[in-house]
Amino acid sequence: MTESLREAVDCQISDQTLSLSAQEMTRYIKDLAVFYGAKDIGVTPLQPYHVYSHIGRGTGDYGETLPVEHAYAIVFTVEMDFEMVGTSPYLPTSMETGKQYVEAARVAVQLAAAIRFLGYPARAHIDGNYRVIAPLVARDAGLGEIGRMTLLMTPMEGPRVRLGVVTTDLALIPDARKPDQAVIDFCTICEKCARVCPSRSIPFGPREEVDGALRWKLNPDTCFRYWAVVGTDCARCMSVCPYSHPDSFSHNLIRWGIARSGAFRRFALMMDDLFYGKKPRPKLGPGWVDH
Ligand code: SF4
Ligand code: SF4
Repeated sequence: MTESLREAVDCQISDQTLSLSAQEMTRYIKDLAVFYGAKDIGVTPLQPYHVYSHIGRGTGDYGETLPVEHAYAIVFTVEMDFEMVGTSPYLPTSMETGKQYVEAARVAVQLAAAIRFLGYPARAHIDGNYRVIAPLVARDAGLGEIGRMTLLMTPMEGPRVRLGVVTTDLALIPDARKPDQAVIDFCTICEKCARVCPSRSIPFGPREEVDGALRWKLNPDTCFRYWAVVGTDCARCMSVCPYSHPDSFSHNLIRWGIARSGAFRRFALMMDDLFYGKKPRPKLGPGWVDH
C-alpha cells in the first residue's frame, strides 16, 4: 500500500499562493493534520543532520547525495494499538505496524498535497521513501525524547507510535525542543527493553558519547537479523516499555508522577515489574486474530 503512495510524495505546486501570517498558517496546518488523522504534531526548522546523506530506498537514484531541500519539517505521530502491539513478536504486531505505516503515509501525502495546493513546495516522507530521520525531527519538534531503545518516547504513548513527516518551504512557527530528563532517568534505571530483546541489540548501562552526542546505540544488524528469523518486525521492546501503557486514568496518573519525581520513577518501575513482570511475556491479541 505504501509502495503505491511512493510516487505521490511530491507533485506539482499550484500557481496560486494563499498568504496567511506564519502563525495562522501554522495553526491551520496543524489542525488539518489532526483532521487527516495525526495524533501529535510539531514543526521544526529542517537541519542538515535530519536529512539522510544518500538515497537508499524509495524514489530517485540509489546512492545519489541528498540536499537539505526545504526550510521546515512538519512531523506527526499516529498511535499503534496497544493490544495488537502486546502480541509481539508474533504476527498481529506486524499487522499493526503495517496499518499505521499506511496511516502515517496517508496523512503525510494528503498534508503535502494540501500545502502544494496552497502554492508552496512540500514533500511527504513515508515508509520506504523517507529522506529524513523521523525520530530526530520529532524530537527537535518537541514531540518527545529519544529513549534507550532509540525510538521516540512520546509523553502519552511512549514508543507506541509511528511517525510521518512533511518537509516544506511554507513559513511556519517552529515548536521548541523539550528535553525530558525524566525519560532519560527512567530509561537509565529501567532497562526492560534491553532485558527482553531476543537479539540483545539494545544496550544496558548509561548513555555513552556517540558522534559527539550522549545516547544509547542500538545494534541494527542483530535486530534486523532477528526480524528475518522470526518473520515479523518483532517490537518486543516497544510492547514491554512501561511508557507504552494505554491512555487511562491510572496510567496517566503514573505518567504525571514519573514526569515530576525521581523517587516516584523508582516506585513506578517497581510496580511495573510487580504487575507486568521484569520480562513480560507476549500476550494474546484480540479474539479475531490467532497467533
Ligand atoms: S523499556 Fe524502559 S529502558 Fe526501554 S525505552 Fe522503555 S522506559 Fe526506556
Ligand atoms: S525490535 Fe526486537 S530485536 Fe529489535 S531491538 Fe526491539 S526487541 Fe530487540
